[in-house]
Amino acid sequence: MIDPWNSAIIDYEKLREQFGIKPFADLMDDIKDPHPLMKRGIIFGQRDYGRIVKAMREGSSFAVVTGMMPSGKMHIGHKMVVDQLIWYQKKGAEIYIPIADMESYSAREVDFKTSKKLAVEEYITNYIALGLDFEDEDLHIYLQSENEVVKDLGYKLAKKVNLSQLKAIYGFANNTNLAHVYVPLIQVADILHPQLDEFGGPKPIVVPVGADQDPHIRLTRDIAERFKSTYQFIAPSSTYHRFITGLTGDKMSSSKPKTAIFLSDTPEVAVKKLKTAKTGGRETLEEQKEIGGAPEECAVYEMLLYHLILDDGKLKEIYRDCQEGNMMCGECKQNATLLVEEFFQKLSQEREKAKDLAKASLLEIS
Ligand code: SF4
Repeated sequence: MIDPWNSAIIDYEKLREQFGIKPFADLMDDIKDPHPLMKRGIIFGQRDYGRIVKAMREGSSFAVVTGMMPSGKMHIGHKMVVDQLIWYQKKGAEIYIPIADMESYSAREVDFKTSKKLAVEEYITNYIALGLDFEDEDLHIYLQSENEVVKDLGYKLAKKVNLSQLKAIYGFANNTNLAHVYVPLIQVADILHPQLDEFGGPKPIVVPVGADQDPHIRLTRDIAERFKSTYQFIAPSSTYHRFITGLTGDKMSSSKPKTAIFLSDTPEVAVKKLKTAKTGGRETLEEQKEIGGAPEECAVYEMLLYHLILDDGKLKEIYRDCQEGNMMCGECKQNATLLVEEFFQKLSQEREKAKDLAKASLLEIS
């Protein structure tokens, strides 16, 4: 069982086998200009993604839904979802971004006013700063608590789900509050509502998620099937990405600041944090020269792989130099700090520019 609110590090292979997630690599040859996260195997799994590939190839309508739960600061691992949204936006997708304030309220004790403030100042500001076009008329962002269509649909869909099913999927305990038990139904409605007639009717939808969010996808696909004759829903497709390793070697998490570089960190703070990152280096320089480092166990290398180096050749060179013992961690980290500094300098400038537009989107969603 996976708890999407408190997941630990996940065994991706086991997840794929146990829940029937297909390898993303199976479809790579059919995707035009795949995103680097796809090419590098960071997006490792999918369900029914062939529908999305077909829609992109034919230029037909499809949508992407991915929510944000405003409960803390965004860290650099969260950037992966924004990167994918930008890619889909360029591919002509309709974008739906639910702000999961009902989830924050029920699962994280965050009140609605705080959620809204966090959503604008932290999430929307970063989304815009990272390059998502919020002025695109096919981008829809809303607060769950203020979206009557979604709440109404969630209620109707709840009719065909019972408590024991939710317990089996999520492992809810007897003392789990009922708002928390109910909130997955709101998420199901978030994902399915773009297929209602007033939003253009049934269409392929993809939900790009971290591997721990699969329970929501399974529930949604199941419910879509149960309501097929009522709404003609097409079961949503999904993709699954790996988590970025935190600076300490554990999963990066906003609730554990020592593991994370936050998108709102200044360049100086980000650089300082990177210098503390756990590497795949050996105990001594002699040993590293002799047997090489372990880039696959290195938080610095992951930062380069996920976010900082787009040039595949350059990345391969670093990997090889590390493995062959030609590159020592001190030099490698120093090079990485330059990239981190550059990235965060640009991001902080873009965040400043994005503030007004983010606030305007607050007015629109008020
Ligand atoms: Fe990581 Fe670089 Fe050290 Fe290799 S040389 S373990 S990639 S920091």
